[in-house]
Amino acid sequence: MERVYGGIEAGGTKFVCAAGTGPDDIRSKIQFPTTTPEETIGKAIDFFRDFMEKQPLGAIGIASFGPVNLDRNSPDYGYITGTPKSGWSHTDFAGRVQRALGLPVAFDTDTNGAALGEYLWGAAQGFDTFIYITVGTGIGGGGMANGELMHGLVHPEMGHLRIPHDRQKDPFEGCCPYHGDCLEGLASGEAMELRWGCKPEELPADHPAWELEAEYLAAGLNNLICTLSPQRVIIGGGLTKNPNLLPMVRSNVAQLLNRYIDASQITKNISEYIVPPALGDLSGVLGAIGMVRRDKPD
Ligand code: ZN
Repeated sequence: MERVYGGIEAGGTKFVCAAGTGPDDIRSKIQFPTTTPEETIGKAIDFFRDFMEKQPLGAIGIASFGPVNLDRNSPDYGYITGTPKSGWSHTDFAGRVQRALGLPVAFDTDTNGAALGEYLWGAAQGFDTFIYITVGTGIGGGGMANGELMHGLVHPEMGHLRIPHDRQKDPFEGCCPYHGDCLEGLASGEAMELRWGCKPEELPADHPAWELEAEYLAAGLNNLICTLSPQRVIIGGGLTKNPNLLPMVRSNVAQLLNRYIDASQITKNISEYIVPPALGDLSGVLGAIGMVRRDKPD
């Protein structure tokens, strides 16, 4: 019998849990808002406990918002560390799930999870160096370099790039509690809401807010493309629901790079270079399942 795995996509706004083997075989799925660690992780554990009464699970993958500790030699491995999200700082996540369910657990960032999902089943199939950026309440990024998920000293923090900020044109100070006007501070959903006084989804799709948003995202992408040389850039997250955003991001990126990177993917086919996730909102939870399917931690 094929082994079934559990995946948790732990976002700052909501958790998605699923059990299955891949996109065509999700056997059970649940989603609930992120509240306290106690309640939210508890709900995830309950979901898998219920599932395991019917069917065994091989392992659980967790793709979590962060920052997270991924150093297996650290006593805090599997923790959410110094997050600005209230109540979640220094939360033992992987260990708690592992002890409660008695299963092997793999742990990574939410964006690396989503990147892996897209690599296995979505828009990054066939590429071994690519990035996945999510633009929602916050901004995060992960990806692969030469076929390995990006890890290092800790993990990439692509949302906290420094980008040009013309204060005459945009006097908004930025809202990152650590950096003020970093990319996330200027271009996250929270930044848009504070700057324009309403939720981004309430702004008309052709509001000038979106052109400014596209300029900021393009500045960040310019830096990432120059640094990492990704073969593809995947952009997901709530803000990309505006269909005008990605085309504007593409044209701004092309303009900033100014044909310096001599690759037809950018100079001729940028609409196939900067793309939305093929798995839609499921990249993260499927990637979490992929983490354990791929790593086979048992
Ligand atoms: Zn920041």
